[in-house]
Amino acid sequence: MGFFLALLLAGLFASPLNAAQLQICTDDKTVSWIREHDDQRIRSLFVGVLTKASMKVDDYSICEVEYPVAPQMLEVETRGNLRMFALLVPTYMRSFSDVELQGFMAHEVGHVAVGKAHGRGIGVEKMADAKGASWIGKEAMVAFLNSIRRELHRYSQQLHAGIKAEIDERLQALGALK
Ligand SMILES: [Zn+2]
Repeated sequence: MGFFLALLLAGLFASPLNAAQLQICTDDKTVSWIREHDDQRIRSLFVGVLTKASMKVDDYSICEVEYPVAPQMLEVETRGNLRMFALLVPTYMRSFSDVELQGFMAHEVGHVAVGKAHGRGIGVEKMADAKGASWIGKEAMVAFLNSIRRELHRYSQQLHAGIKAEIDERLQALGALK
């Protein structure tokens, strides 16, 4: 993880501090499993979600990763109390629809808004879902959760039952399951 953070930080400080522009994830072309996300559709969707969430766009960057499989938001600790965040988007998500990506992004930004005080676990996942839904609507969050079910084959077999159960519980919390 140390190597990873150093890589991201190098990228973050290399970019100009333009208002309302995403920071650069990394400009290191020698590392193949993480790169600046170059899909304009996905970049604009992320800026849109950040704007709806009233987040500062230039506190964020967006990276494409081959690994890890699970999409996530990485908090990048920087100098002083400056907090920055890198959204890690696995390559397979390029095929996701706008609404699925918006759900995913709003969920991850939801984690930033919820904060770390609540620890980990399904309780926090539901809080991030609810936050995300308040910004972009419940339908996008439901679409995102259903997309995880569709992509279940990417996770190891012994995780499938647990992931399915968690998704069902989260859909239920959103009022999307009876
Ligand atoms: Zn989450």
